[in-house]
This record gives sequence, C-alpha cells and structure tokens, in this order.
Amino acid sequence: MYDLAIIGGGPAGVSAAINAKILNKSFIWFSSGESSKKVERAELIKNYPALPDITGKDLANALKTHTESLGIEMTEEIITGVYPTEGSFNLLAGSKNYEAKAVILCLGVETQKPVDGEERLLGRGVSYCATCDGFLYKGKKIAVYCTDKRYESEIEFLCSVAQKVYVMPLYKGYEIKAENAEIILKAPTKFIGENRLSAVEYSGGKVEVDGVFVLKSAFSPTTLVHGLKVGDGHILVNRKMETNIKGLYAAGDCTGRPYQYIKAAGEGNVAAHSAIEYLSEK
Ligand SMILES: Cc1cc2nc3c(=O)[nH]c(=O)nc-3n(C[C@H](O)[C@H](O)[C@H](O)COP(=O)(O)OP(=O)(O)OC[C@H]3O[C@@H](n4cnc5c(N)ncnc54)[C@H](O)[C@@H]3O)c2cc1C
Repeated sequence: MYDLAIIGGGPAGVSAAINAKILNKSFIWFSSGESSKKVERAELIKNYPALPDITGKDLANALKTHTESLGIEMTEEIITGVYPTEGSFNLLAGSKNYEAKAVILCLGVETQKPVDGEERLLGRGVSYCATCDGFLYKGKKIAVYCTDKRYESEIEFLCSVAQKVYVMPLYKGYEIKAENAEIILKAPTKFIGENRLSAVEYSGGKVEVDGVFVLKSAFSPTTLVHGLKVGDGHILVNRKMETNIKGLYAAGDCTGRPYQYIKAAGEGNVAAHSAIEYLSEK
C-alpha cells in the first residue's frame, strides 16, 4: 500500500508529486497522458512567475524535466474509481487495483459532462472497464461510447465478446474493423432504463442494448468518488485542500476558478503538505 496516490499530470499533480518526493513519502502518481493537454496547448504564457513568455510546450517540458530530475515516475493509467475503505482508499484503473492511505485529486475540469443517466446506471448496464465487465456481455448487444483512439484495442476486445456492438467514436481517424461493429457518428444523449440500462439514445435515433461501455479519459469528480461533495461543478475544499472525505484532498482547476497554472501548482503544494500532515497524525 502506498502512503499517497496523486491523480492528474497537470501543474497541480506535478506540484503535489514534487512535494511528496521531497518530503520522502511513498506515493504513486497517475495521469491519463504524459502531460496535461491544457499546458501543452497554451500558445504563450505570460503569468507564470519566473518564466515570462514561455510557450505551453516549453512549460510542459520544464515540468517533465523537473519531475524526472527528482526520479519521479508517472504511471500512465486512467483512474476509473476511487473507493474509500477503512482508513485507506482503493483506486481502480481498468482491471488493476491500487491502495493508498491518502489521495489527492488533481483532475482538471472535465469539459464533457456525463451522459444523462450515466451516473445513475453505473454498474447496472453502464461500465467504464472493458476488460473487467466485457465478459458479462458474451453474445449480447452492447454500445460503446469512446472519446479517445487509445481505447480501440478495448473496442476490438468487446467486439470479440459481444454479438453486436454499436460504436460511437468521438475522435478523428477511427479504425474499427470488426464485422459485428456498427459505427454511429453521434454522441449519446441519454442512457435509458429504470433499474438497468435498456437503450442508448442519440440525436436522431436509439439502439436497444444490454450494456454500454463509456471509454473516456476524464470523469466528473462525483462519478470517480461517490459521496464527494461538489458545488457548481467543482470539488468543495477548505484552505487545507481537504474534501468532505477524510484523507482525500483536491487541487487545481477541479476545485474552482480562476483556472490558472500557478493557482493549480500552489494548491498541489498545499494538498501534498496537508496529506503528509494527515499521514503522520495517522
Ligand atoms: C489554451 C489554454 C491556454 C491557457 N493559458 C493559460 C495561461 O496563459 N495562464 C494560466 O495561468 N493558465 C492558462 N490556462 C489554464 C491552465 O491550463 C489550467 O488552469 C491548468 O492546466 C490547471 O492545472 P490542473 O493540474 O488543475 O489541471 P490540468 O492541467 O487540466 O491537468 C489535469 C490532469 O489530470 C489528468 N486526469 C484527469 N482525470 C484523470 C483520471 N481519472 N485518471 C488519470 N488522470 C486523470 C489529465 O490527463 C491531466 O493530465 C490555459 C488553458 C488553456 C486550455
């Protein structure tokens, strides 16, 4: 079990990881990509102290060089669930399971809202993990809503298990060759079902299915952690970056505006210090 798990590879996560490393904690640092797309995309940054007129690409490189120089390794995995247990946390990444005594969420802000019905029917026909739940749909009809080309091997796997797969790829350059796959170039608008999913609706149509797989790289905080308190779409924290769940901290854009690098990095620093204080009290 790790002392600490940090989720997110943007400035908040980088800052939390640097501080955890300097303070000698055993920690694991997850990110869905090598660096934050939001950092890379900035044309020119003028408000990061000591780095005037730096491009987003250069800032991303500087963050990477800093963590590498400290020997910090990033685990490139997408966390699909964080479950508080007795005094620790279980973190799910597909079919893998990790344990940590404290967790810092540095998720950024999700631009895609959950589909209507997604959170309500999660575990009742809605799944985030092809390798964990795919076998439940052997010979059945399913839909796959996918926002990232990196998941195509998982779609292929689902096609090898299910009888029919309606694939909704929300990215460019999809290459899905399975004969039982039908491509629908629309995003789902609603997951339908009382106690279990029965159909997926999209603009202009509906498919009746036994399950739907949502394969995406970011989740809303409440989908990730049940019982987490949010307000206005952001995780509620106090000045120590503590959430309403003991041992769980949040930092960066996911806690609210302004959405800025230095605010994210500052909060990552505070969250790491608070988490470490919590661990030593424990
Ligand atoms: C085009 C553009 C220009 C900008 N220019 C500026 C500027 O000039 N100055 C400024 O101060 N700010 C600027 N910003 C805002 C700045 O990018 C953000 O405030 C900052 O990146 C927030 O950092 P963060 O660490 O909170 O989140 P992010 O940088 O969004 O990082 C979140 C990280 O979490 C990862 N993640 C999310 N969910 C999961 C999961 N479930 N499992 C694993 N990993 C996960 C993501 O992959 C990502 O690496 C700009 C933003 C954009 C888009």
